Amino acid sequence: MKTMAMRSSFAIFAAVVLSALGAFAQGGPQTDYARMTMKVDKLADNFYTVTGLNGSGRTGGAIGVLTGPDGILMVDATFAPLSGKVTAAIKTFSNEPIRFLVNTHPHGDHTGGNPNFAKMGATILGRPEMRVDLMAQKAFDPAGLPTFIFTSPLTLHMDGEEAIVIPVPPAHTDADSMVYFRKADVLMIGDFFRIGYPNVGGTVDGMIRALGMAIGVCGPNTKVVPGHGPVMNRSDVIAHKDMLVNVRDRISDLIKQGKGEDDVVAAHPTASYDPIFLKDVAQYYDEGNIGRYHNGDAFVKQVYEQLKPKS
Ligand SMILES: [Zn+2]
Repeated sequence: MKTMAMRSSFAIFAAVVLSALGAFAQGGPQTDYARMTMKVDKLADNFYTVTGLNGSGRTGGAIGVLTGPDGILMVDATFAPLSGKVTAAIKTFSNEPIRFLVNTHPHGDHTGGNPNFAKMGATILGRPEMRVDLMAQKAFDPAGLPTFIFTSPLTLHMDGEEAIVIPVPPAHTDADSMVYFRKADVLMIGDFFRIGYPNVGGTVDGMIRALGMAIGVCGPNTKVVPGHGPVMNRSDVIAHKDMLVNVRDRISDLIKQGKGEDDVVAAHPTASYDPIFLKDVAQYYDEGNIGRYHNGDAFVKQVYEQLKPKS
């Protein structure tokens, strides 16, 4: 009996840990890595994306791969258990070694594979906040910490490409960066712009400024690759920023009228955007996370929390 009780309490403990990890890392306890496949898309002559597919849609953050005679520059590393599949997917178009890895932000669906790729010889580049955030993740293997630190835009000339890593104000997290590949005309933007309503883990004003920087980087034909979602373009980023500004202002007005959180959510300040912003979200978030993104409520609550009167 004692053993059973211990087992079930362990099971509960494990379930709690798993769901916490899932909520954090966007994998969800349901993610079955062994069954996942990787999708490769060629975006330019020597630039590819690699994305995880589970049965119902895409999962994990999109990976960007620049390849050529100078080796591979990789943007993001998805979940740790997928590193072997990522490597195999890259082998379908390149035999070059992974020389550099840079993360768009510290969440596990973008950094989980860092230690594995570092052990294969990749040098990890990151802003100081990235090191701090990864060190704060209890189970994170220090082998995956960035060793080359940048505090302002960093340019890499390799494979005939000019890749610019650009740190942005606190947006999705306090450690967001985007990476622009000038010749390929591809912007790996991470999760501060993606399909559906944003997850504002940084600040709403920081996210608005970061989106403004992305709009400034993009040309009319730039392929904007979000962490989650289809390839989009500059107009999509502009529409996203406009939505964010308008919803922020609507929430701010409701707060000025004395409304509390429940009233603000009930007023549904995203209503006019829902038909566009909620379209197709289901295929990009797995079941463990779709609840957060299937309407605008979680986003509205985040913005409310940031704007509410401080007592
Ligand atoms: Zn993500």
